[in-house]
Amino acid sequence: MRTHSRFAMIALVTLMLGACAGPPSLPADLVLLDGQILTQGPEDIVAALAVRGGRIAAVGGSDEIEAWVGPQTRVVDLGGRTVMPGLGDDHYHGIGGGPGVDLSRTRSIQEVLDAISEFARGTPPGELIVTNWDWHEGQLAEQRLPYRDDLDRAAPDHPVVVVRGGHEYVLNSAALAKWGIGETTPAVPGGRIGRYPNGRLNGELVDRAKGLVTLPPPIPPDPEAVLQALEDEYETLHARGLTSIRYPGGSVTQYRALERLRDEGRLSMRVNFLLRAPGAGLPGSLDEAIKSWPAMGEGNEWLRVGGVKLGVDGGFEGGLMRAPYEEPWGENGTFYGLQTVPRETFFETVRELHRRGWRVATHAVGDAAIDLVLDAYEAADADAPLAGLRWVIEHGFIARPDHFPRMAALGLVVTLQDHLYVAAPSLIQYWGAERAALTTPARAYLDAGIPISLGTDSPVVPWDPWWTLHHFTTRGTITAGVVGAEQSITRREVVRAATEGYAYLTFEESLKGTLEVGKLADLVVVADDLLECADPCLETMQVDLTVVGGEVVYDRAATGVP
Ligand SMILES: [Zn+2]
Repeated sequence: MRTHSRFAMIALVTLMLGACAGPPSLPADLVLLDGQILTQGPEDIVAALAVRGGRIAAVGGSDEIEAWVGPQTRVVDLGGRTVMPGLGDDHYHGIGGGPGVDLSRTRSIQEVLDAISEFARGTPPGELIVTNWDWHEGQLAEQRLPYRDDLDRAAPDHPVVVVRGGHEYVLNSAALAKWGIGETTPAVPGGRIGRYPNGRLNGELVDRAKGLVTLPPPIPPDPEAVLQALEDEYETLHARGLTSIRYPGGSVTQYRALERLRDEGRLSMRVNFLLRAPGAGLPGSLDEAIKSWPAMGEGNEWLRVGGVKLGVDGGFEGGLMRAPYEEPWGENGTFYGLQTVPRETFFETVRELHRRGWRVATHAVGDAAIDLVLDAYEAADADAPLAGLRWVIEHGFIARPDHFPRMAALGLVVTLQDHLYVAAPSLIQYWGAERAALTTPARAYLDAGIPISLGTDSPVVPWDPWWTLHHFTTRGTITAGVVGAEQSITRREVVRAATEGYAYLTFEESLKGTLEVGKLADLVVVADDLLECADPCLETMQVDLTVVGGEVVYDRAATGVP
């Protein structure tokens, strides 16, 4: 907006006020005065804003917006604070890491083992012990996983399965025995059975090899408890400014629970929901799955079906690359990562979903995985054009210059998350410093004109959106310093990606993502000057107020926290 002349700005503001706002005939429900409001619309930055009926009724100077104040209007004096559109997380699985031993706060291998030992003391011998998955070895001083022998020391008399992220288990000897996994167990296509340097099993099962183990399903809580847990979860997210989240691949049961929450008027988060397709590794045919699904695109501005999630490669330790991994993970130049689905199956699934009108989003981490996704999307595009359908690449870690024109030609969007912030040490070990520094190259995507959005992949990476904004503007990480500084983007760009970029991803740019008259009143008040505060201010940015559809869903002042 800096390119606008002052005259053009005044003309635009006058036009907007004349066309959309005018003198208020009714008072507003909520009015914000005397702040720095990043509208991301033609007005750019304004001082005040009025909300009526869940939508933005007017933006402008404090004097004009004061005219909207009536006896019932809630008035917030911003005192110069910054207001921005509500944040969206483009790839959010859940807040917690599942049941079992909580490893989320451990900081060394010993602390991991202590937590497991303690759990074992309260568990009858022989009974299975599982950990949560809300942690990563990048948080441990040793920056490595605990392996079989470590786990045997911690709990020799219990089968132990350490769950790490969505791609990996580590088993102790009792657990290997329980599932009959031994030195002669054949390799699993699309998976890896880990070994110590001397060739002995180290307990690691990666991607498809996880299928050798069947963990008992958690005891299903009663339906009301599920809804209450969701309400609590969203309350926590609102406290950090999130007003929209996108689930990248859930079950019909999860979707129905959200639907109930919405229909009972209890949903305070705007949710975009992708179904998980059998082509991504679930048993059962695509045809059967589709019959059980809600319709593509069904829903409203609270909950909408956004498409189908597929996957083609592993994660940090299995992203499919054009060049081998760094040694020793490269296994003498032979390990390129894991392709988790056969090429033909993936092509067929993608083309069939396209024929049936489903929008596809595919997990692709490595550069070779992106090659594969582009090949399949191009095949679908040849059947019927993808332009305008905004198909998605999830993660898109290692994008190469030759990918960008292909992505642009197909009209793709890419969802980025801040994995590097947490996992940088591992990525440098697996892929080498140069390749790791390329991870999630937001600068390159923007320069190539590829639309991006931002998120966390929680609980693979902790869900705090401000860690994401901090990371993408600074490329700072928790334990490995700045990684790939040349890929950083500006404060304005990062906010746009997390708001407008999110709205574009979900086809909701006419509803949200900017603070323009007529759009949903989803917004956040933060304590510091978002554009000018000194780094690393974003990392710990304090949220004062979160509003969804004109309703205050978080008010720091009301929590009693000074
Ligand atoms: Zn994910």
